[in-house]
Amino acid sequence: MKPTFHHKPVNGPFEDPCLYVRLLREKRALMFDAGTIGRLSLGDILKITDIFITHTHIDHFIGFDTILRGLLRRPQHLNVFGPTNIIECIEGKLKGYTWNLIEEYPLRLEVFSIDGDVMRHSSFYAERRFERLDREDKPFSGIVLQDASFKVKAVSLRHDIQCLGFSLEEDFHINIDKAALLDMGLPVGPWLSELKRAIRENAPEDKEFVVSGKTYTFKELRGIAKITKGQKISYVMDVAPDDENIKKILELIQDSDTFYCEAYFLDADRERAVERNHLTAKLVGKIAREGGVKNLVPMHFSPKYRNSPVSPEEEAMEEFLKGI
Ligand SMILES: [Zn+2]
Ligand SMILES: [Zn+2]
Repeated sequence: MKPTFHHKPVNGPFEDPCLYVRLLREKRALMFDAGTIGRLSLGDILKITDIFITHTHIDHFIGFDTILRGLLRRPQHLNVFGPTNIIECIEGKLKGYTWNLIEEYPLRLEVFSIDGDVMRHSSFYAERRFERLDREDKPFSGIVLQDASFKVKAVSLRHDIQCLGFSLEEDFHINIDKAALLDMGLPVGPWLSELKRAIRENAPEDKEFVVSGKTYTFKELRGIAKITKGQKISYVMDVAPDDENIKKILELIQDSDTFYCEAYFLDADRERAVERNHLTAKLVGKIAREGGVKNLVPMHFSPKYRNSPVSPEEEAMEEFLKGI
């Protein structure tokens, strides 16, 4: 099965965090955080449909203006998801410019903030000079975006302020085992879509299917479908090294194919890490190992380690690979 997501940090590990995720089956991309994005082309920017912001410290949010500028003439709207203050932060950015010449522009921003168990929503449309329109609140129970083939989950973590951690999970794939179909003497037909739907919806075992005039139960037919797990990517930046955060991160990243995580400080500076509400590289390695992730990508290192004999990457990977 070909991967659905192609994911890559935009910058090096000592530079601003920003993860660009291409959806290979669509002309579309997602972005996690928006630090400096000078390395993205206008073509890359034009594909972005959804941005997920962990928190609005400048190194995670300064690239938003460049994206806004790139998308002004794009008819498709842009969704931005972020912490409690994201609506006010975007409103503040928009108020920082003069918008008297854009009423013909099609861009619409839909901004969603995670505030406890509520998702607040405001719209900003170029045709209305980006004036803020508050929409109705929705209940929030962990999923920020449910798309046709994937979902994005968010969890609120502590970095002195609120900081969101995200996971991007593709739905499982259902493939029909042609040999099993032949063995049972069953024809290919629209009933297979019905069977796939029953699997997705976890239908009861006695649900009936009529195939070529014969009746079968879901239990009898389920074996001809092979289920494979979809891709999972998780992204955690700037969080305090406390037990509650670690517990929530472990739940979020469980069995990820790739886990992108800040590793701002080395273990030797762990007191500083506590003071500054950041993880240490060693702790990141341990969390990734315990979370059962396949690949760890440590990033967002303090510039003070640029010439350090041991890099945060080495420290995190050494701990991650322990016992493997
Ligand atoms: Zn940061
Ligand atoms: Zn921060």
